[in-house]
Amino acid sequence: MAVTSLKRNLEWLFLVIFVIGSAWLAWGLYSQWRGIIEGHQLRQNSQITTIGNATRAVFNSQETLLTLLGGQLMVHWRMGQVDAVQTVFENMLEHNRTTVGYALLDEDLDPVVVRWRDDRVQPVTPRDRAAERSVCETARDSGIMVVGGAFRLESMDRWLIPACKAMRDTGGEVTGFVSAALAIDGPDSFFAEQAALGQSNVVQVIRGADLSSMLWATALELPEGYLAQPISRRIYEQAIASAERLSGAPIDTIRATGRPYPYRLETALGPQVGMAMYDDRYDLWVLTQTNRRELLADFFLSAWIYVAIYLVVLTSVLALLFAIGRAERRRRADLVYQAHHDMLTGLPNRQSAIADFERMRHRYGDEFALMFIDMDNFKAVNDGFGHMQGDAVLRLLGARLNEFAREEERVARVGGDEFVLLTPETDPERLVARGCKLADRLAARYVVDDVGFELGCSIGIARPGDAGPSLNDLLRAADVAMYSAKRDQHSARLYEPTMGRVYLENIQIEQRLRKAVDDGAIHMVYQPQVDPEGRILGVEALARWDDPELGEVGPSRFIAIAETSGLIGRLGDHILECCLADARRIANQRTTPLRWSLNISVRQFLQPDFAERVIERMSEIDRSTIEPVLEITENLFAEDYGSLASGVGKLHRAGIRIALDDFGTGFSSLAMLRDLTIDELKIDKSFIDDLEAHESARKLVQSILAIGRNQGMRVVAEGVETRRQFEILREDGCEVFQGFLFSSAMTMESLIDALTRGLPGRD
Ligand code: C2E
Ligand code: MG
Ligand code: MG
Repeated sequence: MAVTSLKRNLEWLFLVIFVIGSAWLAWGLYSQWRGIIEGHQLRQNSQITTIGNATRAVFNSQETLLTLLGGQLMVHWRMGQVDAVQTVFENMLEHNRTTVGYALLDEDLDPVVVRWRDDRVQPVTPRDRAAERSVCETARDSGIMVVGGAFRLESMDRWLIPACKAMRDTGGEVTGFVSAALAIDGPDSFFAEQAALGQSNVVQVIRGADLSSMLWATALELPEGYLAQPISRRIYEQAIASAERLSGAPIDTIRATGRPYPYRLETALGPQVGMAMYDDRYDLWVLTQTNRRELLADFFLSAWIYVAIYLVVLTSVLALLFAIGRAERRRRADLVYQAHHDMLTGLPNRQSAIADFERMRHRYGDEFALMFIDMDNFKAVNDGFGHMQGDAVLRLLGARLNEFAREEERVARVGGDEFVLLTPETDPERLVARGCKLADRLAARYVVDDVGFELGCSIGIARPGDAGPSLNDLLRAADVAMYSAKRDQHSARLYEPTMGRVYLENIQIEQRLRKAVDDGAIHMVYQPQVDPEGRILGVEALARWDDPELGEVGPSRFIAIAETSGLIGRLGDHILECCLADARRIANQRTTPLRWSLNISVRQFLQPDFAERVIERMSEIDRSTIEPVLEITENLFAEDYGSLASGVGKLHRAGIRIALDDFGTGFSSLAMLRDLTIDELKIDKSFIDDLEAHESARKLVQSILAIGRNQGMRVVAEGVETRRQFEILREDGCEVFQGFLFSSAMTMESLIDALTRGLPGRD
């Protein structure tokens, strides 16, 4: 989502830069083009002005010359001095290099004297004559020098233009003509100086009357026969129309002002941009035009710099944006990685476990399983060796887990020392086997900086079919199974729905128990312990809880829950106080001693100063009538055997007896007997139950009784329910009995009653 919005932003940014860049480029190219056009126009303008002025100057000087000479020549001629005329012409030809021939004509246009620069020239050709005649005819009606169209003088191999001026007497009558032939090509032509602008630029001088060309100045070759024929009228009109359009002035104005006017033209050579200027005196158009392609070439020559800059900038921006996009994508990928991985072990984290779970669910439906892995004593590594070592162990652990997982399986770290593995395996046996294998792998020794660590590992396994569809269901179920595994010292356990029920009940019990402890709702009942004659020797205090919501909850259950939930301290204290209060009550009424047995829970016993506190509380009781006994179960010692010896010793010395409850069911009964000062053994009910049916049970019971005798300990048979059991026990030498056969647990009032009157049914 975020990545696409970044991409969109970058795309927008690029678009904006692209649009601005393109606008800049377009503007740059346009002004470049305008600059070229305007620059060229400026140059054309000055060029055409120069050429126009030069042309006019040339004709003006010719005219002045002809006018001045004409009068003198006419005088010579009238006086019959033809030779003088010849001499003048020769001098003129000598000094005026652009004129190749002069002629003096009479009023009927017949030649009087003709003088050519080159003697070999045979000047009189029908064409020359025709040209000369038409020019002079025009000059007859005009006060100024008339210039004719260009013609070619083959014998000289040159292009010439005729100029003619009529001579008049004082009355204005034409008396004769002086004409000159001006060379317009080759050496000494009077246009020779005119340079063209660039390769395709053409400068032309055209006669307005017949559109015949007089001059073509260009860097190109002069087109074949160019001077021989007038330019096309169509082209001429096109040019005029364009000049009118561009300037907004009509042709008459254009002609009259004599200023240069721009025009555009389409010719066989391509599109032309030109400028025209009209000379009213000699009826001449001076034109300059350049092929637009040449300007375009100029334009492209400079435009590529703009385009190059544009492309460089655009590619740089594009590259930059790509780089930003890539860096951002990488950064986001890192973030996504970080968001989905545990930085310490590099394993996927809880977040990924959720995603993996969804994928598994999508792919396998209910046919997969989750393993919840809990390291048993990892906290000890952290506490004992510091977090650095702890982290190193976790990294090794993560690597082992990762290595263990198959391709289709997914692992994740979901807590400090908690991991999950999702697997498509569903077969219960294979699942448990795989869980055990994993537990073995993870429980193998870890070595960090030459220090070895051995961690236990418990694994709970749950399948959606048993646990429920959501990940939470699976995790909770696997957690339940994991606790069950831990409790029963298995390394892996598959969740079964009954476990879940118990788990939920336990949660409920825990909540209610908290309230019950606060309210003092737990009360005590007492089960008598009797001698073979049924006389009460003592009682065992048993806790009872009748919850308004849950009903009666057995002590085995709520004591165990109190132990795991941390409630046992307060509950134990409450029970102790109740028992002491009841004991005080009883003590006052008795004359003979009564054993007063209390059950002490595992955790209670491990509380600091437990022994001291009990001794202190018990000191308030009259020991001549109440003999306190603490019943502790054997598996208590299995947990923290060593640390108990001193507490037990202290209690014993203070006159408080210690009984081993449920004797025979634990693992280290005999070792405990050796090391601890035990006063009483309570044969576990399970042996009593089997007494009648199994000889082996009886043998065991006999052994326990023998131990008791040998060690000087009292032996109590628990859970005696039948007469036959009682008889067997008696035969074997048991002297104290507890069980339903004699009495179940009773209230304080019933107990007081029983103590005074004896147990019902016995006297
Ligand atoms: P326990 O200390 O071994 O107590 C004897 C249990 O056997 C009692 O069960 C008693 O009611 C039962 N019992 C006695 N005679 C017979 C019999 O003939 N037949 C049968 N079926 N049962 C018999 P209860 O009261 O349910 O207590 C269960 C266990 O809960 C006790 O086992 C003891 O470990 C624990 N417990 C009970 N009260 C307390 C307490 O105040 N504090 C602690 N820490 N644990 C207690
Ligand atoms: Mg007991
Ligand atoms: Mg017992």
